[in-house]
Amino acid sequence: MILDKFKLDGKIAVVTGANTGLGQGICIALAEAGATVVGVARRSCEETAAQIEKDRFFELRADLSDMNNAEYVIDETIKQFGRIDILVNNAGIIRRADVVDFTEQDWDDVMNLNLKMLFKLSQLAARQFIKQGAGGKIINIASMLSFQGGIRVASYTASKSGVKGLTMEMANELAKYNINVNAIAPGYMVTNNTEMLRKDEKRSAEILARIPAGRWGMPEDIGGACVFLASSASDYVNGFTLAVDGGWLGR
Ligand code: NAP
Repeated sequence: MILDKFKLDGKIAVVTGANTGLGQGICIALAEAGATVVGVARRSCEETAAQIEKDRFFELRADLSDMNNAEYVIDETIKQFGRIDILVNNAGIIRRADVVDFTEQDWDDVMNLNLKMLFKLSQLAARQFIKQGAGGKIINIASMLSFQGGIRVASYTASKSGVKGLTMEMANELAKYNINVNAIAPGYMVTNNTEMLRKDEKRSAEILARIPAGRWGMPEDIGGACVFLASSASDYVNGFTLAVDGGWLGR
């Protein structure tokens, strides 16, 4: 039955940036679909855990700006649960400055977390998926700025355009192992990431006026797409970046 294909019972999912925002919405959705979720964050995931059935959510503390922690995240998951089936690379940061003033620090910090760590975790998860021999699902969180240029966000646009390209590249190499690598490109969502934009009344009104859905997205808006891409309902979807944007890109 088709709805059974969306079920994630018995699956072990690792979600980065699990304490708040879209990561929190993703953890809740995956757990509701039946998965056991390992939520990775550099601070407490108490708020996320409170919204998930007991024994369905486990917190793993790690600062993902430290590249050495990629091994720790995957090894610790295997140690505790014996396997991994789904990886959601959600943790990400943004820095805003004019191109002419953009600092190397703001370039490196964003590229390291949004792109390099995403690659390292995907590489380690893929090795484990191959060892397990039962395929796997990698879901990367991209952005509208995987498709558009943006303004005053040079490293973020570079990283998220990289995420879209890397998603296709990894899908090309890993499809033969029944590993799916897809991405979700959220539109303008109400999270800490967009707090500065939403506080700027002029920019906020301009953005809202351009969203066909007539509202900003919420963390729960991303859950359906994530469950689909994490489940066997999407087994023949690979290398694609799916926009969840209230119609923004079609405008
Ligand atoms: P958010 O509320 O700021 O969440 C970002 C998450 O990443 C938080 O859990 C954050 O933890 C975590 N993180 C940041 N640096 C980390 C580090 N060094 N180690 C571990 N975790 C770290 O924003 P969000 O909107 O939910 O962002 C989630 C993803 O969606 C990001 O990749 C973002 O680029 C993408 N996205 C968001 C939007 C939007 O409109 N909101 C649109 C397109 C794409 P802390 O709470 O500790 O900082």
